[in-house]
Amino acid sequence: MDHFELRDGALHAEGVDLTILATEVGTPVYVYSSATLTRHYRVLREALDAHPSVLGDSLIAFAVKSNSNLSVLATLARLGCGADTVSEGEIRRALKAGIPGDRIIFSGVGKTDAELAFALEVGVRQINVESVPELDRLIAIAEAKGAKPDVAIRVNPKIGAGGHAKITTGGEGDKFGVPADEAMALYARAAASPHLNPVALACHIGSQITDLAPLEAAFSLLRKLTETLRQQGLPVTRIDLGGGLGVPYTGGATTASPADYAAMVARVLDGLDVEAAFEPGRLLAANAGVLLTRVIQVTERADGRKFLVLDAAMNDLMRPAMYDAFHEVKPVVPREGAEVVYDIVGPVCETGDTFARGRSLAPLQAGDLVVFTGAGAYGAVMSSEYNSRPLVPEVLVDGDRWAVVRARPSYEEMLARETTAEWLA
Ligand code: PLP
Repeated sequence: MDHFELRDGALHAEGVDLTILATEVGTPVYVYSSATLTRHYRVLREALDAHPSVLGDSLIAFAVKSNSNLSVLATLARLGCGADTVSEGEIRRALKAGIPGDRIIFSGVGKTDAELAFALEVGVRQINVESVPELDRLIAIAEAKGAKPDVAIRVNPKIGAGGHAKITTGGEGDKFGVPADEAMALYARAAASPHLNPVALACHIGSQITDLAPLEAAFSLLRKLTETLRQQGLPVTRIDLGGGLGVPYTGGATTASPADYAAMVARVLDGLDVEAAFEPGRLLAANAGVLLTRVIQVTERADGRKFLVLDAAMNDLMRPAMYDAFHEVKPVVPREGAEVVYDIVGPVCETGDTFARGRSLAPLQAGDLVVFTGAGAYGAVMSSEYNSRPLVPEVLVDGDRWAVVRARPSYEEMLARETTAEWLA
């Protein structure tokens, strides 16, 4: 459920009319709903808390990569949410938004020495190590800093899942984590170092996973490996199950519910006595955001094909071009009349800048507003200035109030970041 609804004939984000936002902020613009973010967090929290003996102490660490806006993070921080981060920039964002270091997990396949040192300085909860060379670098950095960080070893369970090959991370050939047997050796190697405190195994097998079976298989493997480590006398007190749970991108889509997910996890972890962490991104943020955009024109070809040309483009919302992702398109003020079939495109000079082909929509005209729904995760974070289009702004709504939480740069600001080499001036 989200809080984007038609009221008095116009689509609203909570109490705010999107036509007014479009006039005041301009388009394209991302619009996030605080109530939806809050609801999604609470639904997951309550699902986990329904299994208090197994998951009562668990940490929800929002995957910052999915939406790193400071106000979005601050909204979640106030609810007690932690952060899963993959760069120094994301750690800085999480801290700035009020997420304490002891709720910040540092993941990622290629952390630099400087980033690892920074993570130790600010005292993150745990560093998820993904390879032998990373472990060795971390030992050296921890020794030099006189620190002893908690670490998890990320297992590649050879179980890939997800909505697209490019968002599958747990498959054998994927770059993430280490295979199970190597993970055992890596854990022992971490335990042998006086500079590390291994506490957990971790996995994250992919994103937009709508069926629980692959997740259950991966989590069961992690349980088995945890028991093996303990049999070897190695302490394991936590388990990090990653994110990945899918969301409905259309009204009719079926996805595993947070309640079913939590019940499955509680079953798999029953009696293991570990503190679990979850790293949801899409689940919390996707349906809490829309991309609001205006129709520049409708271009009709002689063969009858109609292109709906929007002022949003692939540089603002990359997912359709990158992952063939489906986003529903809804008019902000629906017009009467028979549906029309459109190819929905942006102004960028790439054929890939096509959001959808053959989409039937209520009739639209130049100047009309539409939204892409489900755009709150992996939307604004992936935006760029390709074709020298200024970075798309972001707005957060809370009831009847709203704020621009990332401003659209002016052309002057965009150009001021660059300098002309002195010999060209
Ligand atoms: N955790 C890790 C390590 C990830 O790489 C990702 C996304 O790729 C996530 C969590 C979040 O995934 P999702 O947004 O599907 O929940």
